[in-house]
Amino acid sequence: MNCELCGKQAGKAKRIQVEGTTLQVCPSCERHGKEVFLSEGGSTTEDILARITRAKNRPYSSGTTKEEKELALDYHERISGARIKNGWTQEELASMVNEKKSVISKVERGELHPSDELVRKLENTLNIELKEAIVEVAPKSSNGSSGLTIGDLLKNR
Ligand SMILES: [Zn+2]
Repeated sequence: MNCELCGKQAGKAKRIQVEGTTLQVCPSCERHGKEVFLSEGGSTTEDILARITRAKNRPYSSGTTKEEKELALDYHERISGARIKNGWTQEELASMVNEKKSVISKVERGELHPSDELVRKLENTLNIELKEAIVEVAPKSSNGSSGLTIGDLLKNR
């Protein structure tokens, strides 16, 4: 056969890889690429390359984590608990944060999500934390079925 690089007649061709392409070359052209060994499992180089490409294109393959602060699920319990510990009525707390008592009472029942501003006021007044870090761990598995969202995780709690 002829060498695919230099075109010379090559008695003993070798398969090498040059920039992703497999070529049959003569021994003197070997050094231009990497020799290709076919694995015993019968996979071709193309199979292996395809697998590597898929791995590279896979989303979330880095396994990084993302941190976010979100209103705690039990924010209403934290507020009422801290208020009661201080011996304050809802009315007293409401006036301290410049809100109506009805707002505080709804917030304490978990019927109203306090605005960011109100969250800050309540945190400062009651000396509590209402937000907590939600750590989302990106799935590392490669089976393609991992589509868990924060919503799914919360449902399972
Ligand atoms: Zn050659």
